[in-house]
Amino acid sequence: MTLTKKMFINGEWREGKTSYELKSPYSGEVVAKLPFSTKEDVLEAIEGAKSAQKKMKALTSLERSTILEKVANLFEENFEECALILTKENAKPLKAARGEILRTIETYKFAAEEAKKLTGETIPMDAAKGGKGKFGFTKREPLGVIGAITPFNFPFNLVAHKLGPAFAAGNTVVLKPASQTPLSALKTAEFFEQAGLPIGALHVVIGKGGDIGDVLVTHPDVKLITFTGSLEVGLDIKAKAGLKKSTLELGSNSAVIIDNTDDIESVARRCVDGAFAFAGQVCISVQRIFVKNELFKELTEAMLETVKGLKTGDPAEESTDISALIQEKEAVRAEEWIKEAQNKGAEVLCGGKRTGSILEPTIIANVPSSASISCNEAFAPIVMINTYDDYDEAIRNVNDSQYGLQAGVYTTSIEKAFQAVDQIEVGGVIINEVPAFRVDQMPYGGVKNSGTGREGIKYATEEMTELKLAVFNLV
Ligand code: NAP
Repeated sequence: MTLTKKMFINGEWREGKTSYELKSPYSGEVVAKLPFSTKEDVLEAIEGAKSAQKKMKALTSLERSTILEKVANLFEENFEECALILTKENAKPLKAARGEILRTIETYKFAAEEAKKLTGETIPMDAAKGGKGKFGFTKREPLGVIGAITPFNFPFNLVAHKLGPAFAAGNTVVLKPASQTPLSALKTAEFFEQAGLPIGALHVVIGKGGDIGDVLVTHPDVKLITFTGSLEVGLDIKAKAGLKKSTLELGSNSAVIIDNTDDIESVARRCVDGAFAFAGQVCISVQRIFVKNELFKELTEAMLETVKGLKTGDPAEESTDISALIQEKEAVRAEEWIKEAQNKGAEVLCGGKRTGSILEPTIIANVPSSASISCNEAFAPIVMINTYDDYDEAIRNVNDSQYGLQAGVYTTSIEKAFQAVDQIEVGGVIINEVPAFRVDQMPYGGVKNSGTGREGIKYATEEMTELKLAVFNLV
């Protein structure tokens, strides 16, 4: 029998007037039946979140922390069930799905810690001539209602990156997950309900972003929109949000420079992992490799050898490394980009073939910068490798992008490492590691078209609070 799920509004699990069938991206089988929330449902959720603000603000930091800790524990207790949800709704291979659940647990644990750390500072008022006899301090206050819109690729952990800091700071949330990955968001809501989150502090509305997203983005009672997703939708949200605060975590075509290394085989393994994990559907996936001319042969040989060991297939199988892309049309698009690069003179070293929604892991060499695979976000298992002679040229190549999320640099020169940190235009430079590296407490976010604002629990918590100043006149 098909699993039937409900939306979560004002502490109630509700059916919708209309519904849709959620299908596995891998097998096409119906995984569950989901309700479509209407605009009225979203308005009711916002109203409910506004009413719940008082209750949420009244919780002590210890109470907020305890709720988040309990949610982390519930993920631990239901670990395998959560990993299996991912294999069904977004075809994440089981090994990677387990990795995401481990990170989700950590994210909620970091949020539980952060709830206890929200502090202000005392201001030396008398450092100004007019400040004598005054005592000033700041405190951080919750913003109120937060609208969270999340993508399909890390549906548990990226929801955690919104809910964790929002609740750590005492906000309430209306969450709209990607319509392909609502099961993870609804499971998360179940855990918060069991953990004792006040009724109305979390609402989960389900439906197409194009149909119900605007209600969240434009509503005056929603004080911040925290969005993770594509550039196209991010630009639309920014244009409609007006003066409302927004955090936009968008895409990238992340690059790595390989200038020098003592262990090319380990670098090759990291590049393969960074390029092909979850079939490249990772915002910091390794998409562009710039390797020093003399290392090209060794690097590509080692990468091709590693790719041979990758197993493609059913996401629910233990041994699978690569499975279906989220939709067949994405695989078709990626295949076209490979052909376009070939037509422009690039050489396909492995892969390039598509079967339905599955694209073989593909390595392409000598790609001109005008090719889509170089200048746009691939979000597919494709990586390009170009060579360079001069390190400055390699840095210019990395910066020749509309995006700027993270970049990696392999070098044994401390001077070159610092040069990269200074000159590469991204939110994070990772030395002797691929740009796909992320742990969940580090500041994370982009420059240029990769977005605005930072996630990473401490940083997101700050963005989800207002700084309030208090001044006491003591004379
Ligand atoms: P997407 O198509 O932009 O969708 C993201 C979310 O926005 C979904 O919930 C979607 O709902 C919703 N949405 C769509 N149109 C909307 C509208 N007009 N108004 C409001 N919401 C709307 O992105 P995706 O395909 O799920 O995810 C892939 C993208 O996310 C990639 O570009 C990737 O780089 C980026 N990403 C960035 C980060 C980061 O931290 N920087 C992390 C992960 C992913 P529907 O599903 O119903 O369309």
